[in-house]
Amino acid sequence: MIIAHSTQELRAFLSQSVAQDASVGFVPTMGALHQGHISLVQASKKQCDVTVMSIFVNPTQFGPKEDLSSYFRPIEKDTEMAKTYGVDVLFLPGEQDIYPPLDSFTISEQTFSSKLCGAYRPGHFQGVCTVVAKLLHLVRPNYLFLGKKDAQQLRIIEKMVEDLFFDVTVVGAPTVREESGLAFSSRNGYLSKDERGAASILYKSLTRAQIEFEKGQRNPDALVACVDEVLSSEPKVRPQYVEILQWRDFARPVQRIDQTCLLAIACFIGDTRLIDNIILEI
Ligand code: AMP
Repeated sequence: MIIAHSTQELRAFLSQSVAQDASVGFVPTMGALHQGHISLVQASKKQCDVTVMSIFVNPTQFGPKEDLSSYFRPIEKDTEMAKTYGVDVLFLPGEQDIYPPLDSFTISEQTFSSKLCGAYRPGHFQGVCTVVAKLLHLVRPNYLFLGKKDAQQLRIIEKMVEDLFFDVTVVGAPTVREESGLAFSSRNGYLSKDERGAASILYKSLTRAQIEFEKGQRNPDALVACVDEVLSSEPKVRPQYVEILQWRDFARPVQRIDQTCLLAIACFIGDTRLIDNIILEI
């Protein structure tokens, strides 16, 4: 595995050592790697000749009161894990590589970014779009692998690629879950043992709504109520939002779900904020 610590090292390696006709898959991450990240590496290895992973805790996607300083950075363990699972190039840029002094550009999306997490994390998706655009320009991959776990992020990046004519195919990979149903997340590491037990209620609530949907329930309010009811059975969990939006345009279905929708939730458990979702397919 090649490790590039700067944009110069990355560019030199990619131009000198990767054949022109090799297909390149890219997995951007913030590290503290887990099975969710690894599933993206595996998807890339299946589809592409070369797999590039980046680890960069992107400061611009954190709000002033969020967990930037406490975010896990187990870089040695991550490097070992990336190597074990067959990452070809690990890109570990410093903050100045991505945001050089006098850097003054951002990319912001105007519609989808204000919904769901965007309503509670102002500026978050601007930070995400800006860093992903920069990384795409540096890595120039054929395929970009993102997790459906962060469904709003996936949809906004799909939209950025489409609207700004990036020459890359976005692949959304399924959410990988622990046995309890809890989606793997770097932030699960903040949970105490009890909180971790409580956190499994998130997916249980989504599963309950999925069952109702499959039985024919198409009323969005009824499905949201069903999720709320299950979440309220766990006192450690404080929901921030439970929402259903149409996948295509992120509009709220009014009375009836008649196209594929995203059912997304965000909850606090102690100080830890966790998100999860399912797609309600029509
Ligand atoms: P992060 O390091 O949290 O920024 O995540 C990097 C990538 O891994 C993003 O595309 C996430 O959507 C994806 N990811 C995170 N958790 C999971 C999971 N449990 N299953 C699948 N993909 C995930």
